[in-house]
Amino acid sequence: MNAAYVYLQLYRLFDKSTPIAADCGQLCEKACCKGDDCGMFLFPAEEQVYKLLNPDWIKIEKTDFSYSYGGKTFYTPLALCTSECDRYQRPLACRIFPLTPYVNSDGTLEIIVDPRAKSICPLAKSLYLENFDKKFVKNIEKTFRLLMKNKRFAAFMTEYSAYLNDFRRFFND
Ligand code: SF4
Ligand code: SF4
Repeated sequence: MNAAYVYLQLYRLFDKSTPIAADCGQLCEKACCKGDDCGMFLFPAEEQVYKLLNPDWIKIEKTDFSYSYGGKTFYTPLALCTSECDRYQRPLACRIFPLTPYVNSDGTLEIIVDPRAKSICPLAKSLYLENFDKKFVKNIEKTFRLLMKNKRFAAFMTEYSAYLNDFRRFFND
């Protein structure tokens, strides 16, 4: 199945589903959408969405964060928003923030509070996973259980989880 189509379907789960019942942007004046380093990784093949939609508010850059699959090395792109985004086109990482998928040492998929969010997001600083909106957490689980069926995506998750471990150690998480 076409990757752009899959992501566009998954995005819809988050059109109305948000981290908490209230508008958390009012707590922090949308801290996660501000700053020069306001970029987010695109998940494997998610850049196909932006090739299709070609929005003028996003710039996609290569990073040196890589993973191997099928004898090839894939470099993970970073999306930078250059102006206010179209909410219905925003990347998956923005939709699930400040939570993120994580594969633990047993190889099990978990949803965790993103350790990278702890320095900017009041929700990430003060809430545990169980304090987030249950439907929001469920939608994230559903999304990543489906994406993890793809072997390339699973290979990305192994590397991504090791990368998150460095931040978890820093925050004693
Ligand atoms: S997710 Fe966190 S940083 Fe982003 S708007 Fe909500 S409270 Fe603010
Ligand atoms: S794409 Fe939209 S939601 Fe994501 S960081 Fe940029 S402005 Fe915020």
